[in-house]
Amino acid sequence: DGHPILDETRAFLGERHQLLINGQWSDGTEGETLESRDPATGLTVARFAVGGAADADRAVAAARNAFEGGWGRTSPKVRAAALRRLAALIESNAELFTQLEIIDNGMPQMIARLTVSNCVEMLDYYAGLAWQIEGSTLAPPTWVADQAEALTYTVREPVGVAAQIIPWNVPMSMAILKLAPALAAGCTVVMKPSEETPLTALLLGRLVCEAGLPDGVVNIVNGLGSKVGARLAAHPNVDKIAFTGSTATGRAIVQAALGNLKKVTLELGGKSPVVVMPDVDMDLAIPGVGMATYFLGGQNCMAGTRIFAHAAIHDQLVEGLAAFSKMLTVGHGLDPASMIGPMVSEIHCGKVMGYIERGLSEGARLVTGGQRLDRPGTFVEPTIFADCTPDMAIVRDEIFGPVMAVMKFDSDDVDTIARLANDSPYGLSGSVWTQDLSTAHRLVSRIRSGHVSINCHGAVGSNVPFGGYGQSGWGREFGTEGLSNYLETKAVTARL
Ligand code: NAD
Repeated sequence: DGHPILDETRAFLGERHQLLINGQWSDGTEGETLESRDPATGLTVARFAVGGAADADRAVAAARNAFEGGWGRTSPKVRAAALRRLAALIESNAELFTQLEIIDNGMPQMIARLTVSNCVEMLDYYAGLAWQIEGSTLAPPTWVADQAEALTYTVREPVGVAAQIIPWNVPMSMAILKLAPALAAGCTVVMKPSEETPLTALLLGRLVCEAGLPDGVVNIVNGLGSKVGARLAAHPNVDKIAFTGSTATGRAIVQAALGNLKKVTLELGGKSPVVVMPDVDMDLAIPGVGMATYFLGGQNCMAGTRIFAHAAIHDQLVEGLAAFSKMLTVGHGLDPASMIGPMVSEIHCGKVMGYIERGLSEGARLVTGGQRLDRPGTFVEPTIFADCTPDMAIVRDEIFGPVMAVMKFDSDDVDTIARLANDSPYGLSGSVWTQDLSTAHRLVSRIRSGHVSINCHGAVGSNVPFGGYGQSGWGREFGTEGLSNYLETKAVTARL
């Protein structure tokens, strides 16, 4: 709709998009396709093949063959080189990835660019870690050592076939943060992107082939969660499932995985607390707390959406946040001025608007925003509710939209404040805003979350473990823990 699109983006969108199974592109066995829409315009931009259970089965068989055919025993040199080739190919297609991500998901250009460079960094990081997969030598068990000379050591081995199911909110990042450690460890992969956002994974599939990864090492099967996703989760020949998505789907995955007791990691929802103390640096806090909620239009698992403001600065903070919210440009991600894009889909937009209505009916005070923009696309105004109470739905539920719930507190006691912050079944992220390091660290030590920031929010990185307490998930991704998800430990004792 008037925004400049590269010729290569236009060409890619118009192509026939299939499933990548065993190094070959093919349609799904049921011959079905879905449309990808640009949420900023509502227009259909591409059509892509979707698979069913039979295609999931084909992909798992291919991944098993590739694992046993040698990928599981490749040297770190081979795996690191493959990851670096993929990184280089992504870099040389950076603009295409950026535009596809914007058109598919709606995110602002600045974030899409950052996503691509983070993916390159992530691949490089795990290429390095491929060399650091190490075991240890141990004292042999006494009863063996009493009888003979003996040697005990451990080795780390790849788990095997990994199924990876990812959401729509940062599609390319999600794909790479799952793919990189799995490949570094020597696992083979069947990935199921979200049916809302298939495009960057499809481009990635092409580059995986170009990078010369052996057939079947990476398989990409688009399709519905209820068909492809559910089949992968239940599949007896899948050794590990890595899932990012909602807590409800996470529960279904765990149930499905019980059959063969596959290893499961879960990165689920959040409702993260943001605690603002009286001595805060307000100039830092206003944009920082604002973006804690609004980054990715709030479609961000780490979003800080429960704002606890100390009574001494509450009014000043709310006023500052309201002015900040009004200043944010809401628009198409291809417009460089846009800071907040659309909600990913019509259905999701309806859900977010439903929460705004609920906030009003439950008696929260609407400070700013609250409207869907009267134009094509699924744009929701940055919205602030104040005078919220802990029992309100807008405080309890993950909205996954640009909706902030502010609560006032007047205690200086860190235990009391932490109790407020911890009043949620989730525990993914959080932040504390104060210039007093002692208060900051005492609060951090009491907040029950996998990731807490001080004077910033959601500061994740390739090497920093990330995951949830409570109902925000199982296990950690990123860093060395992210690699461990794809490794088994084998202990060996030799009687010499
Ligand atoms: P979702 O749970 O609806 O879907 C996620 C993926 O699971 C999709 O690929 C979907 O097709 C698939 N799926 C759906 N039902 C399935 C089933 N029964 N079996 C197997 N797969 C199935 O989540 P979403 O709406 O795509 O994403 C939003 C959610 O993701 C939010 O709750 C958000 O907090 C969470 N999220 C978490 C993180 C994190 O790292 N913790 C990151 C991003 C998003």
